[in-house]
Amino acid sequence: MFVKEGIIASPGIVIAKALVYEKVIVEVNKNKVEDPDKEIEKFQNAIKKSHEQLETIRIQAISELGEEEGAIFEAHAMVLDDPEFVEGVEAEINDSHLSADNAVKIVTDRFYEIFDQMDDPYFSARAADIKDVGTRVLQNILGIVQADLSQLDEDVIIIADDLTPSDTAQMDKKRVKGFATNIGSRTSHTAIMARSLEIPAVLGLCDITETVKTGDLMVVDGLTGRVCVNPGNEELESYEKEKQKYLDYLKELEELKDLDAITLDGRKVELVGNIGEPNDAAGVLKNGGVGVGLYRTEFLYMNSDVMPGEEKQFAAYRSVLEAFPDGPVIIRTLDIGGDKKLPYLPMDDELNPFLGLRAIRLCFKEVGLFKIQLRAILRASVYGHAHIMFPMISSITEVRQAKAILQDCMKELDDEQIAYDKDVKVGVMIEIPSAAIAADIISKEVDFFSIGTNDLCQYTLAVDRMNQEVSYLYDPFNPAILRLIQLVTATSDKKDQFFTGMCGEMAGDPLAAILLLGLGLDEFSMSALSIPQIKKIIRSVRYEDAKAIATAALNMETGEEIMDFVQESMKKLNLYN
Ligand code: PEP
Ligand code: MG
Repeated sequence: MFVKEGIIASPGIVIAKALVYEKVIVEVNKNKVEDPDKEIEKFQNAIKKSHEQLETIRIQAISELGEEEGAIFEAHAMVLDDPEFVEGVEAEINDSHLSADNAVKIVTDRFYEIFDQMDDPYFSARAADIKDVGTRVLQNILGIVQADLSQLDEDVIIIADDLTPSDTAQMDKKRVKGFATNIGSRTSHTAIMARSLEIPAVLGLCDITETVKTGDLMVVDGLTGRVCVNPGNEELESYEKEKQKYLDYLKELEELKDLDAITLDGRKVELVGNIGEPNDAAGVLKNGGVGVGLYRTEFLYMNSDVMPGEEKQFAAYRSVLEAFPDGPVIIRTLDIGGDKKLPYLPMDDELNPFLGLRAIRLCFKEVGLFKIQLRAILRASVYGHAHIMFPMISSITEVRQAKAILQDCMKELDDEQIAYDKDVKVGVMIEIPSAAIAADIISKEVDFFSIGTNDLCQYTLAVDRMNQEVSYLYDPFNPAILRLIQLVTATSDKKDQFFTGMCGEMAGDPLAAILLLGLGLDEFSMSALSIPQIKKIIRSVRYEDAKAIATAALNMETGEEIMDFVQESMKKLNLYN
């Protein structure tokens, strides 16, 4: 027996036999070829075959996993038709007399590197797609058939170096019960896939493909991040117990779905979801979210080759509003800049992009672009409870400036006799320390706040949120952050009809829930899957006790001390964190 530790990518515990999924190592022919035409033909046949395979996978992915997963393979098919890819390969064959396989490998690697080095997570994720497509074409040229995972006769845990969208789409979903891989992170495709299939996954295990054999009995513990290979009877029994405990807990969460997020002594808060596109609304509803606390509209812009127009935006906002006829939908205006760029909007390189022309600052510079979005939101506002939220606000002056532009849009719509909700709520993200410190001033101009702890931590602690080297300093439990949160909620407490929410990652962190509740947060917005667990925590405590825990935490000296203290408090309540 041995135990290895990796990155928790998807929760749960599974005990099953290992199936080591080894990729065939593809060797390309590096010799010069005599007959380039023959190689071009091989390449074109492989493209045709790849198209056919992708269409089959796409249909399968849509029926088993949904439209979104199917769209990945549409994007793959587009790479096959991309003139830069096709002509690039053909030029290598014709001009340098490379074999078709060698040319595909070279061009794929070239594209992969370009995309992989982009700072933007959207484009760097595309790098994996390009590699996946290139490998498919290569295998089709060489007649390589990859191990088939589509029909398995027993339950298995897949052990692999990494898993591509093509690998996961074709898996026998009834039999695949867990993943353990050498590489990967919480945001890699394998992790996202495991979470959507609701199977446990531990990634980043370095050499798991070398240390485990197909047929070994394995435990993947996605609660602690451990995998145990060939456990003894005693360990097995203990894992079985933990597994059952977790299943009981999930069942309990499921039963809470339609219940309010209310404490034992009657304080009700709102649990809502963070979404990036309209399709995500379904997950929020499924997990009992009563609305949307953050609609990151930048994805609408980033997933498009051209600036999305008013109609396209209107349709997207309307569909989200209609999904929540009774709940709030907080639509955040464009947050581009920092690490996010748009291919069709030229922006100068900046020395400090996170301190530069980002979000509302960019919208003030590109007022035309801003107005298109505001008009689209206003027009959609008649279909539900739309809330407009401005990001990266640092002072009341910016709020007034944004509201003046909103007023202009309202006037335009009035003149055009187009309906909109005249009482549409307007709020701001509190994600810059100056806004938190001056929350009482800013509150005069808005109906709500939403605390963005992702940026609030970055700016308060002076820690780049993307930089691994300083990630040890990135701590939402730092007393300075808790004190800023308290300043913001204290402001909101004093105002009628006003609410303070949080849409940074901290809102979905089980360890933070009691603290935030005790600090007086009214609304928690998080990724859909976190909603049931946070609801369970809120329903298990008394508000009075949460307040006492928060008060005690505010007087502690370090984030570590605070986390230990909250952990102890949760243990006493039999809660997972
Ligand atoms: C935040 O900063 O906490 C936030 C929710 O916004 P984003 O992560 O999109 O910057
Ligand atoms: Mg932010």
